[in-house]
Amino acid sequence: MYNVQRRLCKMDTRTHGKCCFLGWNMKNIVTLALITAFFILMLSGCLKGNNREMSTSAVMMDTVINVTLYGGGDRNVLNGCIALCEKYDKIFSRTREDSELYRVNAELSQSGKAYASEELCTLIQNAVNIGDLSDGAFDITIGAVSSLWDFTATEPRLPADKNIKDALGKVSYLNVSVADNRITAKKGTMLDLGAIAKGYVADRLKDYLISNGVSHAIINLGGNVLCVGGNADGELFHIGIRKPFSQYDEISAILEIDDQSAVTSGAYERYFILDGITYHHILDPKTGYPAASDIQSVTIISKQSELGDALSTTCFVLGLDKAVKLIESMEGVYAMFIDDKGGIISSNGFEEAVNVSFR
Ligand code: AMP
Ligand code: MG
Repeated sequence: MYNVQRRLCKMDTRTHGKCCFLGWNMKNIVTLALITAFFILMLSGCLKGNNREMSTSAVMMDTVINVTLYGGGDRNVLNGCIALCEKYDKIFSRTREDSELYRVNAELSQSGKAYASEELCTLIQNAVNIGDLSDGAFDITIGAVSSLWDFTATEPRLPADKNIKDALGKVSYLNVSVADNRITAKKGTMLDLGAIAKGYVADRLKDYLISNGVSHAIINLGGNVLCVGGNADGELFHIGIRKPFSQYDEISAILEIDDQSAVTSGAYERYFILDGITYHHILDPKTGYPAASDIQSVTIISKQSELGDALSTTCFVLGLDKAVKLIESMEGVYAMFIDDKGGIISSNGFEEAVNVSFR
């Protein structure tokens, strides 16, 4: 991560805009956070054309978050970004015992009913809509199953098959409805917004930055990237797409975008290997096991990061053929896939919408 980011940014210092990098592994998160903090500290003092930078980063929302302002900035605005992430972590986290979602899940588990804030209700409703769009490949009621798996444990174990089968009885987004700040669901339902919340938060951070006069910034929530404009020299931002399962300094492609979101989902982001089998964190709601996909990674380009986040997970579960059909049926959304043989496939219009160079 460090090497790639530094190499590309160095290269960019001479010739292009700035870059960042998609695809973090939770296992190395604290190390990465420290390295990133150091790296950003070094860069924040640099002057490069109009692109003076100011950055902040933190470990939050189960990942490393980083916001970089270009062309000058205000430390208070960056502090405001961290405060917003903290606010949303306290709403959307499935695992934090003091979160709103934790309380909602406890109530749904007991009675199948819960009141929730407007923002939580909105995100749940939007996620249910993606459930419809994907014919259930995307399903936020996966919480009953995802809570059985621990992909980052030091000594990972498989959940008991019986427990997975039992939990599957509580998995269906069709059981969830939202009206007047009230959520109803089958008793025992557990919601998991891990596949969509980071995108939503990135969109809110962008709104916040724009309302504070920021025109050039990159928001990076653990690989969920959202650009505010381009860089302050009027160039596009460069986003490196990681080669799946590679060491951190290998990339498959560099995308040049401005004002857009780029979100990647991949089997390599959180996984463990047991008896030669790779178990990753993107689950098939039909089986309760990691989705057997012919995609190693999928990157979605969209205006809205919430949609990009939900679609990247969806496409992974759907597999290549259905994913391409879905993306090509939608306006203003593009995808780049790395398939199980390492081939790169892009949806119609991707290469017109995004400057891309392959490595
Ligand atoms: P992402 O990294 O955005 O692809 O999201 C993966 C996360 O979303 C997992 O860690 C789970 O919390 C959750 N998740 C896993 N499988 C699904 C699924 N089929 N539908 C919705 N959420 C899922
Ligand atoms: Mg996602």
